[in-house]
Amino acid sequence: MSELSNKVVLVTGASSGIGEATVRELASAGARLFIGARRGERLKALAEELGQELGGELGDTIGWAELDVTDADSFEAFAAAAQDRFGRIDVLVNNAGVMPLSPLAALKRDEWKRMIDVNIHGVLNGIAAVLPGFIARKSGHVVNVASVGAHLVLPTAAVYCGTKYAVWAITEGLRQEHDEIRSTIISPGVTATELGDDISDPQVASALKEWRQKSLTPDAIARAIRYALEQPEGVDINEVIVRPTAAN
Ligand code: NDP
Repeated sequence: MSELSNKVVLVTGASSGIGEATVRELASAGARLFIGARRGERLKALAEELGQELGGELGDTIGWAELDVTDADSFEAFAAAAQDRFGRIDVLVNNAGVMPLSPLAALKRDEWKRMIDVNIHGVLNGIAAVLPGFIARKSGHVVNVASVGAHLVLPTAAVYCGTKYAVWAITEGLRQEHDEIRSTIISPGVTATELGDDISDPQVASALKEWRQKSLTPDAIARAIRYALEQPEGVDINEVIVRPTAAN
């Protein structure tokens, strides 16, 4: 039986890409899932599909709620709904993120703010929503999806990489402060998802298309998340970096 059997896992950004693939992977390992994002219709469709595949009443194994990770109240309500549905929370996967890349000189202040709000405050709001419960129970696992951009900086990605360096530091800080709580950084390389579809600069958008020629599929990242979650209590996978073979 998997270590994940019956564990209650919250996944943010579950409406597409890595989050959706993670939900599918963890459901197949027997986890109970509570999934969030802003596009509720996508979450509903995914929950219905997986609920049917897994058998039983919808709601036994998977629940969903609309979530804006930038809003602390929204995250608190999301965690409370998961707690009501399943009676406990074992794992939070902070996966939601945005990447509207641009050169600094373009001064896209609104996009800088959106990245900081979603990628940093979103992760902190998630930690705040589960940490008191994890401390009280003396167990829990926070998985934060960072990026290879938490280890290197590329032109047009200064702010995005800044947010991912922050995610790396926050996760490491959480690890150092709590012996009984597991914290894992998952750092994907380029992966074929909807990330960056909102890039407004045509040159940067076409450069991203080029990078995507050599990309992973999201299930590769989902398997890394599953690997971290399937370790026995007392084993803490601190970081997994997953790149396509052809990447430098
Ligand atoms: P997608 O764009 O496919 O997924 C991003 C998810 O984040 C969506 O489900 C979106 O849902 C959600 N999201 C965005 N804003 C919010 C918000 N305010 N509140 C709640 N959810 C939000 O991209 P990926 O799957 O690629 O991205 C997942 C993570 O992986 C991100 O943290 C990204 O930075 C990271 N990553 C991705 C890489 C890649 O090459 N794809 C490489 C390295 C890291 P909705 O719009 O419905 O709210």
